[in-house]
Amino acid sequence: MCGILGVVGSPNAAKLTSLGLFAIQHRGQESCGMAVSDGRVIRLRKKMGLVKEVFTEAEMQKLPGSIAIGHVRYPTKGSATEFNTQPHLVETLAGPTYALASNGDIVNYHAMRRFLEEHNVYFKSDNDGELLVKYIAYQVMRQGDGVIEAIRHLMRDIKGAYSTVLCTWDAMYMFRDPHSIRPMVWGKMQDGTVVVASESCALDTLDANDRREIPPAGIVKVSSEGIRVIENDPGLYRSVPNSRHCIFEQIYFSRPDSYHFGEDVFRVREALGAALGKADQGLKADYVVPVPDSANFIGLGYSNEAKIPLSLGLIRNHYIGRTFIKPEQTIRDESVRQKFNLLPNFFKDKSVVLIDDSIVRGTTIRKIVELIKRAGVKQVHLRIGSPQVKHSCYYGIDTPSKEELIANIYDLDEIRQRTGVDSLKFMDIKDLRGCVQNPEDYCYACFNGDYPVGVPGE
Ligand code: AMP
Repeated sequence: MCGILGVVGSPNAAKLTSLGLFAIQHRGQESCGMAVSDGRVIRLRKKMGLVKEVFTEAEMQKLPGSIAIGHVRYPTKGSATEFNTQPHLVETLAGPTYALASNGDIVNYHAMRRFLEEHNVYFKSDNDGELLVKYIAYQVMRQGDGVIEAIRHLMRDIKGAYSTVLCTWDAMYMFRDPHSIRPMVWGKMQDGTVVVASESCALDTLDANDRREIPPAGIVKVSSEGIRVIENDPGLYRSVPNSRHCIFEQIYFSRPDSYHFGEDVFRVREALGAALGKADQGLKADYVVPVPDSANFIGLGYSNEAKIPLSLGLIRNHYIGRTFIKPEQTIRDESVRQKFNLLPNFFKDKSVVLIDDSIVRGTTIRKIVELIKRAGVKQVHLRIGSPQVKHSCYYGIDTPSKEELIANIYDLDEIRQRTGVDSLKFMDIKDLRGCVQNPEDYCYACFNGDYPVGVPGE
Protein backbone atom coordinates (compact mmCIF):
# COMPACT_ATOMS: atom_id res chain seq x y z
CA MET A 1 0.00 0.00 0.00
CA CYS A 2 1.15 3.53 -0.62
CA GLY A 3 0.08 7.14 -0.44
CA ILE A 4 0.38 9.88 -3.02
CA LEU A 5 0.32 13.64 -2.83
CA GLY A 6 0.51 16.50 -5.30
CA VAL A 7 0.65 20.29 -5.01
CA VAL A 8 0.45 22.89 -7.80
CA GLY A 9 0.61 26.65 -7.52
CA SER A 10 2.47 27.40 -4.31
CA PRO A 11 6.06 28.64 -3.93
CA ASN A 12 6.19 26.29 -0.92
CA ALA A 13 5.13 23.21 -2.87
CA ALA A 14 7.80 20.97 -1.29
CA LYS A 15 6.90 22.01 2.24
CA LEU A 16 3.17 21.50 1.64
CA THR A 17 3.88 18.12 0.08
CA SER A 18 5.87 16.99 3.10
CA LEU A 19 3.05 18.10 5.44
CA GLY A 20 0.50 16.25 3.32
CA LEU A 21 2.65 13.13 3.14
CA PHE A 22 3.03 13.19 6.91
CA ALA A 23 -0.78 13.07 7.23
CA ILE A 24 -0.85 9.86 5.17
CA GLN A 25 2.25 8.28 6.63
CA HIS A 26 0.10 5.32 7.77
CA ARG A 27 -0.16 4.28 4.09
CA GLY A 28 3.56 3.55 3.88
CA GLN A 29 6.46 3.76 6.26
CA GLU A 30 9.25 2.06 4.36
CA SER A 31 10.33 4.94 2.15
CA CYS A 32 9.21 8.29 0.83
CA GLY A 33 10.01 10.61 -2.00
CA MET A 34 9.25 13.87 -3.72
CA ALA A 35 9.79 15.39 -7.17
CA VAL A 36 9.57 19.18 -7.51
CA SER A 37 9.51 21.26 -10.68
CA ASP A 38 10.64 24.87 -10.78
CA GLY A 39 9.46 25.23 -14.39
CA ARG A 40 12.77 24.21 -15.91
CA VAL A 41 14.17 21.36 -13.85
CA ILE A 42 12.50 18.54 -11.92
CA ARG A 43 14.48 17.69 -8.79
CA LEU A 44 14.02 14.34 -7.11
CA ARG A 45 14.65 13.30 -3.54
CA LYS A 46 13.75 9.85 -2.25
CA LYS A 47 15.01 7.65 0.50
CA MET A 48 14.20 4.80 2.83
CA GLY A 49 12.66 6.19 6.03
CA LEU A 50 9.79 8.26 7.39
CA VAL A 51 8.67 11.62 6.00
CA LYS A 52 9.97 13.58 9.01
CA GLU A 53 13.36 11.89 8.76
CA VAL A 54 13.82 12.33 5.01
CA PHE A 55 12.26 15.76 4.43
CA THR A 56 14.09 17.96 6.91
CA GLU A 57 13.96 21.76 6.51
CA ALA A 58 17.44 21.67 4.99
CA GLU A 59 16.40 19.10 2.40
CA MET A 60 13.36 21.08 1.39
CA GLN A 61 15.49 24.16 0.78
CA LYS A 62 17.04 22.13 -2.03
CA LEU A 63 13.66 21.55 -3.67
CA PRO A 64 12.45 24.91 -5.00
CA GLY A 65 9.45 25.09 -7.29
CA SER A 66 5.67 25.38 -7.40
CA ILE A 67 4.75 21.89 -8.65
CA ALA A 68 5.47 18.91 -6.42
CA ILE A 69 4.44 15.29 -6.23
CA GLY A 70 5.19 12.94 -3.36
CA HIS A 71 4.87 9.36 -2.25
CA VAL A 72 5.01 7.20 0.86
CA ARG A 73 5.58 3.53 0.23
CA TYR A 74 5.33 0.18 1.73
CA PRO A 75 6.20 -2.45 -0.76
CA THR A 76 3.64 -4.49 -2.63
CA LYS A 77 5.35 -4.84 -5.99
CA GLY A 78 9.13 -4.87 -5.82
CA SER A 79 11.35 -5.27 -2.79
CA ALA A 80 11.90 -2.65 -0.09
CA THR A 81 14.94 -1.06 -1.66
CA GLU A 82 15.82 2.47 -2.58
CA PHE A 83 15.58 1.92 -6.33
CA ASN A 84 11.97 0.78 -5.96
CA THR A 85 10.99 3.97 -4.12
CA GLN A 86 8.81 6.55 -5.84
CA PRO A 87 8.45 9.01 -7.57
CA HIS A 88 10.11 7.64 -10.70
CA LEU A 89 11.72 10.05 -13.09
CA VAL A 90 12.17 9.76 -16.84
CA GLU A 91 14.68 12.14 -18.36
CA THR A 92 15.26 12.25 -22.07
CA LEU A 93 18.02 14.04 -23.91
CA ALA A 94 15.78 15.78 -26.38
CA GLY A 95 12.35 15.48 -24.83
CA PRO A 96 10.64 16.54 -21.64
CA THR A 97 11.10 15.12 -18.16
CA TYR A 98 8.37 13.29 -16.28
CA ALA A 99 8.03 12.26 -12.65
CA LEU A 100 5.29 9.96 -11.45
CA ALA A 101 3.99 8.53 -8.19
CA SER A 102 1.24 5.97 -7.93
CA ASN A 103 -0.77 3.99 -5.40
CA GLY A 104 -2.04 0.58 -6.44
CA ASP A 105 -0.76 -2.45 -8.30
CA ILE A 106 -0.64 -3.42 -11.94
CA VAL A 107 -2.08 -6.81 -12.82
CA ASN A 108 -0.52 -7.15 -16.30
CA TYR A 109 2.82 -5.69 -15.16
CA HIS A 110 4.99 -8.41 -16.73
CA ALA A 111 3.26 -8.37 -20.10
CA MET A 112 3.44 -4.57 -20.31
CA ARG A 113 7.05 -4.49 -19.20
CA ARG A 114 7.95 -7.10 -21.80
CA PHE A 115 6.18 -5.01 -24.44
CA LEU A 116 8.15 -1.90 -23.50
CA GLU A 117 11.45 -3.78 -23.26
CA GLU A 118 10.87 -5.15 -26.73
CA HIS A 119 10.67 -1.51 -27.80
CA ASN A 120 14.01 -0.71 -26.17
CA VAL A 121 12.63 0.84 -23.00
CA TYR A 122 14.88 -0.04 -20.05
CA PHE A 123 13.91 -0.46 -16.41
CA LYS A 124 15.87 0.34 -13.27
CA SER A 125 13.41 -1.13 -10.78
CA ASP A 126 10.64 -3.67 -10.56
CA ASN A 127 8.13 -1.13 -9.31
CA ASP A 128 4.83 -0.49 -11.08
CA GLY A 129 5.25 3.32 -10.89
CA GLU A 130 8.24 3.06 -13.20
CA LEU A 131 6.15 1.04 -15.66
CA LEU A 132 3.46 3.74 -15.71
CA VAL A 133 5.84 6.64 -16.30
CA LYS A 134 7.85 4.77 -18.94
CA TYR A 135 4.67 3.78 -20.71
CA ILE A 136 3.58 7.44 -20.84
CA ALA A 137 7.01 8.61 -22.01
CA TYR A 138 7.00 5.87 -24.67
CA GLN A 139 3.59 6.91 -25.96
CA VAL A 140 4.56 10.58 -26.07
CA MET A 141 8.01 10.21 -27.59
CA ARG A 142 7.58 7.23 -29.89
CA GLN A 143 3.92 7.44 -30.79
CA GLY A 144 3.69 11.22 -30.83
CA ASP A 145 0.78 11.38 -28.38
CA GLY A 146 0.13 14.32 -26.11
CA VAL A 147 0.31 13.50 -22.40
CA ILE A 148 -3.47 13.26 -22.04
CA GLU A 149 -3.72 10.95 -25.03
CA ALA A 150 -0.88 8.84 -23.58
CA ILE A 151 -2.76 8.52 -20.26
CA ARG A 152 -5.90 7.44 -22.09
CA HIS A 153 -3.91 4.75 -23.88
CA LEU A 154 -2.48 3.72 -20.54
CA MET A 155 -6.00 3.29 -19.17
CA ARG A 156 -6.85 1.03 -22.07
CA ASP A 157 -3.68 -1.11 -21.96
CA ILE A 158 -2.63 -1.25 -18.31
CA LYS A 159 -4.88 -3.18 -15.95
CA GLY A 160 -5.05 -2.80 -12.22
CA ALA A 161 -5.34 -0.13 -9.57
CA TYR A 162 -3.56 3.18 -9.98
CA SER A 163 -4.26 6.48 -8.28
CA THR A 164 -1.52 8.50 -9.90
CA VAL A 165 0.14 11.92 -10.04
CA LEU A 166 2.39 12.87 -12.94
CA CYS A 167 4.54 15.98 -12.95
CA THR A 168 6.08 17.61 -16.00
CA TRP A 169 8.08 20.85 -16.10
CA ASP A 170 4.97 22.96 -16.24
CA ALA A 171 1.96 20.86 -15.19
CA MET A 172 0.62 18.16 -12.95
CA TYR A 173 -1.74 15.44 -14.17
CA MET A 174 -3.80 13.42 -11.75
CA PHE A 175 -5.55 10.29 -12.92
CA ARG A 176 -7.19 7.17 -11.62
CA ASP A 177 -7.96 3.70 -13.01
CA PRO A 178 -11.39 3.03 -14.53
CA HIS A 179 -12.51 1.09 -11.43
CA SER A 180 -11.15 3.76 -9.05
CA ILE A 181 -9.99 1.05 -6.70
CA ARG A 182 -7.79 3.23 -4.45
CA PRO A 183 -8.98 6.55 -3.04
CA MET A 184 -7.88 9.87 -4.55
CA VAL A 185 -9.29 13.28 -3.72
CA TRP A 186 -8.34 16.80 -4.70
CA GLY A 187 -9.19 20.29 -3.54
CA LYS A 188 -8.03 23.88 -3.35
CA MET A 189 -6.38 25.95 -0.66
CA GLN A 190 -7.60 29.46 -0.04
CA ASP A 191 -4.86 30.98 -2.22
CA GLY A 192 -5.84 28.73 -5.13
CA THR A 193 -3.10 26.13 -4.65
CA VAL A 194 -4.37 22.76 -5.89
CA VAL A 195 -3.75 19.75 -3.67
CA VAL A 196 -4.42 16.11 -4.44
CA ALA A 197 -3.95 13.23 -2.01
CA SER A 198 -4.72 9.59 -1.44
CA GLU A 199 -6.88 10.56 1.51
CA SER A 200 -8.83 13.64 2.51
CA CYS A 201 -7.11 13.78 5.92
CA ALA A 202 -4.10 15.27 4.08
CA LEU A 203 -6.36 17.96 2.61
CA ASP A 204 -7.59 18.70 6.15
CA THR A 205 -4.00 19.25 7.28
CA LEU A 206 -3.44 21.69 4.40
CA ASP A 207 -6.84 23.39 4.79
CA ALA A 208 -7.77 22.54 1.23
CA ASN A 209 -11.48 22.73 0.48
CA ASP A 210 -13.80 22.55 -2.50
CA ARG A 211 -13.08 18.82 -2.67
CA ARG A 212 -13.83 16.26 -5.29
CA GLU A 213 -12.76 12.72 -5.97
CA ILE A 214 -10.91 12.09 -9.20
CA PRO A 215 -13.61 10.33 -11.23
CA PRO A 216 -13.10 6.74 -12.42
CA ALA A 217 -10.84 6.90 -15.48
CA GLY A 218 -10.74 10.65 -14.97
CA ILE A 219 -7.78 12.89 -15.76
CA VAL A 220 -7.24 16.34 -14.28
CA LYS A 221 -4.53 18.60 -15.65
CA VAL A 222 -3.38 21.56 -13.55
CA SER A 223 -1.02 24.19 -14.94
CA SER A 224 -0.63 27.96 -15.09
CA GLU A 225 -3.33 27.86 -17.77
CA GLY A 226 -5.85 26.57 -15.24
CA ILE A 227 -7.56 23.31 -14.41
CA ARG A 228 -8.85 20.94 -17.06
CA VAL A 229 -11.03 18.02 -15.98
CA ILE A 230 -11.39 15.20 -18.47
CA GLU A 231 -14.11 12.80 -17.41
CA ASN A 232 -13.94 9.19 -18.48
CA ASP A 233 -14.61 8.50 -22.11
CA PRO A 234 -17.20 5.77 -22.75
CA GLY A 235 -15.88 5.25 -26.29
CA LEU A 236 -12.48 4.32 -24.95
CA TYR A 237 -13.68 1.49 -22.70
CA ARG A 238 -16.72 0.44 -24.73
CA SER A 239 -18.85 0.49 -21.63
CA VAL A 240 -17.81 2.57 -18.68
CA PRO A 241 -17.00 0.10 -15.90
CA ASN A 242 -18.48 0.52 -12.49
CA SER A 243 -16.34 1.62 -9.63
CA ARG A 244 -14.84 -1.17 -7.58
CA HIS A 245 -13.46 0.69 -4.58
CA CYS A 246 -11.43 -1.32 -2.13
CA ILE A 247 -13.69 -2.21 0.80
CA PHE A 248 -10.60 -2.80 2.95
CA GLU A 249 -9.83 0.94 2.79
CA GLN A 250 -13.07 1.50 4.70
CA ILE A 251 -12.56 -1.38 7.12
CA TYR A 252 -8.92 -0.88 7.98
CA PHE A 253 -6.50 0.91 5.75
CA SER A 254 -7.59 4.53 5.63
CA ARG A 255 -7.58 6.95 8.52
CA PRO A 256 -10.97 7.19 10.25
CA ASP A 257 -11.06 10.96 9.67
CA SER A 258 -10.91 10.53 5.90
CA TYR A 259 -13.85 10.76 3.53
CA HIS A 260 -13.88 8.87 0.26
CA PHE A 261 -15.98 6.70 -2.03
CA GLY A 262 -18.81 8.99 -0.91
CA GLU A 263 -18.59 7.99 2.77
CA ASP A 264 -17.10 9.01 6.09
CA VAL A 265 -14.71 6.21 6.95
CA PHE A 266 -15.46 6.38 10.68
CA ARG A 267 -19.19 6.00 10.04
CA VAL A 268 -18.64 2.85 7.98
CA ARG A 269 -16.58 1.46 10.87
CA GLU A 270 -19.26 2.33 13.44
CA ALA A 271 -21.81 0.60 11.22
CA LEU A 272 -19.59 -2.50 11.08
CA GLY A 273 -19.53 -2.57 14.88
CA ALA A 274 -23.29 -2.07 15.08
CA ALA A 275 -23.85 -4.96 12.67
CA LEU A 276 -21.65 -7.22 14.78
CA GLY A 277 -23.47 -6.07 17.93
CA LYS A 278 -26.86 -6.73 16.40
CA ALA A 279 -25.86 -10.30 15.55
CA ASP A 280 -24.87 -10.82 19.20
CA GLN A 281 -28.06 -9.87 21.03
CA GLY A 282 -28.09 -11.41 24.49
CA LEU A 283 -24.33 -11.91 24.79
CA LYS A 284 -23.21 -11.10 28.34
CA ALA A 285 -19.85 -9.40 28.85
CA ASP A 286 -18.34 -6.75 31.12
CA TYR A 287 -16.59 -4.72 28.44
CA VAL A 288 -16.07 -4.24 24.74
CA VAL A 289 -12.33 -3.85 24.09
CA PRO A 290 -11.22 -2.79 20.60
CA VAL A 291 -7.72 -3.44 19.30
CA PRO A 292 -6.34 0.09 18.89
CA ASP A 293 -6.34 2.05 16.68
CA SER A 294 -7.87 0.28 13.73
CA ALA A 295 -10.80 -1.29 15.58
CA ASN A 296 -11.68 1.70 17.81
CA PHE A 297 -14.71 2.85 15.82
CA ILE A 298 -15.87 -0.72 15.21
CA GLY A 299 -15.73 -1.23 18.99
CA LEU A 300 -17.68 1.96 19.56
CA GLY A 301 -20.40 0.86 17.14
CA TYR A 302 -20.61 -2.54 18.83
CA SER A 303 -20.74 -1.05 22.32
CA ASN A 304 -23.55 1.36 21.40
CA GLU A 305 -25.57 -1.38 19.78
CA ALA A 306 -25.03 -4.13 22.35
CA LYS A 307 -25.20 -1.75 25.33
CA ILE A 308 -21.97 -3.12 26.75
CA PRO A 309 -19.53 -0.44 27.96
CA LEU A 310 -16.47 0.29 25.84
CA SER A 311 -13.11 0.26 27.55
CA LEU A 312 -9.68 0.93 26.12
CA GLY A 313 -8.04 -1.98 27.90
CA LEU A 314 -5.30 -2.32 25.31
CA ILE A 315 -2.77 0.44 24.96
CA ARG A 316 -0.82 0.81 21.78
CA ASN A 317 2.70 2.12 21.45
CA HIS A 318 2.46 4.57 18.57
CA TYR A 319 6.13 4.53 17.72
CA ILE A 320 6.19 1.03 16.32
CA GLY A 321 4.24 1.47 13.07
CA ARG A 322 2.36 -1.24 11.25
CA THR A 323 3.70 -4.61 12.43
CA PHE A 324 1.96 -6.43 9.62
CA ILE A 325 4.48 -5.07 7.18
CA LYS A 326 7.49 -6.68 8.84
CA PRO A 327 9.09 -9.24 6.56
CA GLU A 328 9.54 -12.23 8.88
CA GLN A 329 7.19 -14.04 11.24
CA THR A 330 9.54 -13.88 14.27
CA ILE A 331 9.94 -10.12 13.77
CA ARG A 332 6.16 -9.77 13.41
CA ASP A 333 5.63 -11.72 16.66
CA GLU A 334 8.09 -9.56 18.56
CA SER A 335 6.68 -6.37 17.08
CA VAL A 336 3.14 -7.24 18.12
CA ARG A 337 4.39 -7.82 21.69
CA GLN A 338 6.12 -4.45 21.68
CA LYS A 339 3.10 -2.76 20.18
CA PHE A 340 0.48 -3.58 22.84
CA ASN A 341 0.35 -3.32 26.62
CA LEU A 342 -2.61 -3.92 28.92
CA LEU A 343 -4.17 -1.62 31.45
CA PRO A 344 -3.00 -2.93 34.82
CA ASN A 345 -5.56 -4.87 36.91
CA PHE A 346 -8.19 -4.51 34.24
CA PHE A 347 -8.76 -7.91 32.65
CA LYS A 348 -8.70 -10.14 35.75
CA ASP A 349 -11.95 -12.14 36.03
CA LYS A 350 -13.66 -10.08 33.33
CA SER A 351 -15.58 -11.29 30.31
CA VAL A 352 -14.71 -9.18 27.30
CA VAL A 353 -15.82 -8.80 23.72
CA LEU A 354 -12.52 -8.27 21.93
CA ILE A 355 -12.91 -6.50 18.60
CA ASP A 356 -10.45 -6.36 15.72
CA ASP A 357 -10.87 -5.13 12.16
CA SER A 358 -9.51 -8.23 10.42
CA ILE A 359 -7.51 -11.41 10.83
CA VAL A 360 -4.97 -12.06 8.11
CA ARG A 361 -2.24 -14.40 9.28
CA GLY A 362 -3.55 -14.42 12.85
CA THR A 363 -0.33 -13.12 14.41
CA THR A 364 -1.78 -10.03 16.06
CA ILE A 365 -4.84 -11.51 17.63
CA ARG A 366 -3.09 -14.66 18.90
CA LYS A 367 -0.54 -12.55 20.76
CA ILE A 368 -3.16 -10.24 22.19
CA VAL A 369 -5.32 -13.09 23.44
CA GLU A 370 -2.24 -14.68 25.01
CA LEU A 371 -1.54 -11.42 26.85
CA ILE A 372 -5.01 -10.91 28.22
CA LYS A 373 -5.26 -14.54 29.26
CA ARG A 374 -2.05 -14.17 31.23
CA ALA A 375 -3.70 -11.19 32.90
CA GLY A 376 -6.48 -13.48 34.17
CA VAL A 377 -9.38 -12.71 31.82
CA LYS A 378 -12.43 -14.95 32.40
CA GLN A 379 -13.87 -15.10 28.90
CA VAL A 380 -12.92 -13.69 25.50
CA HIS A 381 -15.50 -13.33 22.75
CA LEU A 382 -13.67 -12.32 19.61
CA ARG A 383 -15.55 -10.34 16.96
CA ILE A 384 -13.99 -9.34 13.64
CA GLY A 385 -15.18 -6.34 11.61
CA SER A 386 -14.56 -8.03 8.26
CA PRO A 387 -15.38 -11.39 6.70
CA GLN A 388 -12.65 -14.03 6.57
CA VAL A 389 -9.73 -12.95 4.39
CA LYS A 390 -9.32 -16.00 2.15
CA HIS A 391 -7.82 -14.52 -1.03
CA SER A 392 -4.77 -12.39 -1.79
CA CYS A 393 -5.15 -8.83 -2.96
CA TYR A 394 -3.56 -7.91 -6.30
CA TYR A 395 -4.68 -4.31 -6.27
CA GLY A 396 -2.37 -2.72 -3.76
CA ILE A 397 -3.06 -4.14 -0.30
CA ASP A 398 -0.19 -6.32 0.68
CA THR A 399 -2.02 -9.46 1.77
CA PRO A 400 0.29 -12.44 1.88
CA SER A 401 -0.07 -15.44 -0.41
CA LYS A 402 -3.17 -17.59 0.09
CA GLU A 403 -1.12 -20.25 1.88
CA GLU A 404 -0.42 -17.81 4.72
CA LEU A 405 -4.01 -16.67 5.25
CA ILE A 406 -5.34 -18.33 8.37
CA ALA A 407 -8.94 -18.31 7.09
CA ASN A 408 -7.85 -20.08 3.94
CA ILE A 409 -6.16 -22.84 5.92
CA TYR A 410 -8.53 -23.43 8.82
CA ASP A 411 -12.27 -23.49 9.37
CA LEU A 412 -14.01 -21.25 11.87
CA ASP A 413 -13.72 -23.55 14.86
CA GLU A 414 -10.06 -24.29 14.15
CA ILE A 415 -9.37 -20.54 14.03
CA ARG A 416 -11.22 -20.16 17.33
CA GLN A 417 -9.08 -22.87 18.91
CA ARG A 418 -5.86 -21.46 17.47
CA THR A 419 -6.63 -17.98 18.73
CA GLY A 420 -7.62 -19.45 22.10
CA VAL A 421 -10.92 -17.59 22.46
CA ASP A 422 -14.25 -18.75 23.89
CA SER A 423 -16.28 -17.66 20.89
CA LEU A 424 -15.48 -16.18 17.48
CA LYS A 425 -17.55 -14.45 14.82
CA PHE A 426 -16.58 -12.72 11.61
CA MET A 427 -18.64 -10.11 9.82
CA ASP A 428 -21.09 -11.63 7.43
CA ILE A 429 -20.46 -10.42 3.85
CA LYS A 430 -24.15 -9.50 3.45
CA ASP A 431 -23.99 -7.41 6.63
CA LEU A 432 -20.80 -5.79 5.37
CA ARG A 433 -22.55 -4.74 2.17
CA GLY A 434 -25.26 -3.18 4.32
CA CYS A 435 -22.68 -0.95 6.04
CA VAL A 436 -21.84 1.08 2.90
CA GLN A 437 -24.16 3.22 0.83
CA ASN A 438 -23.37 1.75 -2.58
CA PRO A 439 -22.32 -1.86 -2.03
CA GLU A 440 -22.15 -2.60 -5.78
CA ASP A 441 -19.35 -0.04 -6.11
CA TYR A 442 -16.88 -2.04 -4.02
CA CYS A 443 -14.31 -4.78 -4.56
CA TYR A 444 -14.63 -7.67 -2.07
CA ALA A 445 -12.04 -9.92 -3.75
CA CYS A 446 -10.05 -10.62 -0.56
CA PHE A 447 -13.22 -12.15 0.93
CA ASN A 448 -14.95 -13.78 -2.04
CA GLY A 449 -12.23 -14.18 -4.71
CA ASP A 450 -14.20 -12.17 -7.27
CA TYR A 451 -11.48 -10.05 -8.91
CA PRO A 452 -12.93 -7.19 -10.96
CA VAL A 453 -9.77 -6.62 -13.05
CA GLY A 454 -8.46 -10.16 -13.05
CA VAL A 455 -5.32 -11.55 -11.44
CA PRO A 456 -1.68 -11.49 -12.57
CA GLY A 457 -0.79 -13.91 -15.33
CA GLU A 458 -4.29 -14.24 -16.76
P1 AMP B 1 -2.49 -10.59 11.23
O1 AMP B 1 -1.70 -10.37 12.46
O2 AMP B 1 -1.66 -11.12 10.10
O3 AMP B 1 -3.73 -11.39 11.42
O4 AMP B 1 -2.93 -9.14 10.72
C1 AMP B 1 -4.11 -8.61 11.13
C2 AMP B 1 -3.96 -7.19 11.54
O5 AMP B 1 -3.04 -6.46 10.70
C3 AMP B 1 -5.32 -6.53 11.37
O6 AMP B 1 -5.91 -6.42 12.61
C4 AMP B 1 -5.00 -5.18 10.79
O7 AMP B 1 -4.95 -4.27 11.86
C5 AMP B 1 -3.65 -5.32 10.16
N1 AMP B 1 -3.70 -5.53 8.70
C6 AMP B 1 -4.55 -6.28 8.00
N2 AMP B 1 -4.24 -6.25 6.69
C7 AMP B 1 -3.17 -5.48 6.56
C8 AMP B 1 -2.36 -5.07 5.45
N3 AMP B 1 -2.58 -5.49 4.22
N4 AMP B 1 -1.33 -4.27 5.70
C9 AMP B 1 -1.06 -3.86 6.94
N5 AMP B 1 -1.77 -4.22 8.02
C10 AMP B 1 -2.82 -5.03 7.84
